[in-house]
Amino acid sequence: MAQPPEEWGLTLVRPTAYEYASSTIAPTGNRRALLRWYIQKREGYPVARLKICAASGCEEFALPGQSHCEQHEAERQNKLKVRRAKAQTSEAAIAARVLYADPRWKAARIAYLRQHPLCVDCGELGVIEPATDVDHIIPHKGDRKLFWDRSNWQSLCHSCHSRKTAREVFHG
Ligand SMILES: [Zn+2]
Ligand SMILES: [Zn+2]
Repeated sequence: MAQPPEEWGLTLVRPTAYEYASSTIAPTGNRRALLRWYIQKREGYPVARLKICAASGCEEFALPGQSHCEQHEAERQNKLKVRRAKAQTSEAAIAARVLYADPRWKAARIAYLRQHPLCVDCGELGVIEPATDVDHIIPHKGDRKLFWDRSNWQSLCHSCHSRKTAREVFHG
């Protein structure tokens, strides 16, 4: 049986068949609910502090401030790392890197910002904010034509641009 951190001074013993049967929680096989009930009954411990790992079937305690145990948290981080690495090596991402590395882009963006020096999004709210980024209104996803189409460009400040990019990444 999984044990809480030593400094909590708790030792858990599996409930007896009698305790299990007389529990107010229907013995539906919900081990998490049973474990919580058991801790509360036996230890009078504030159950809210005891978080059990969110991975299904796992009875380990979650790391403080997190929703998974050490092992499942590590697995989760690994999965995220793989997903991020995949996104960076996708064809679209590689094509985009080539486009941004083009010295013609570097010159064009500076010229564009000089002609359109204010953030468009802030402007819509009546705020005057210097632009720092040239954004592609429709994400180009590595497409050369969309990338170079000036009617698809707009000046944004850094914070408006990060907000838009975050939305695009999230919604694909
Ligand atoms: Zn776990
Ligand atoms: Zn802005």
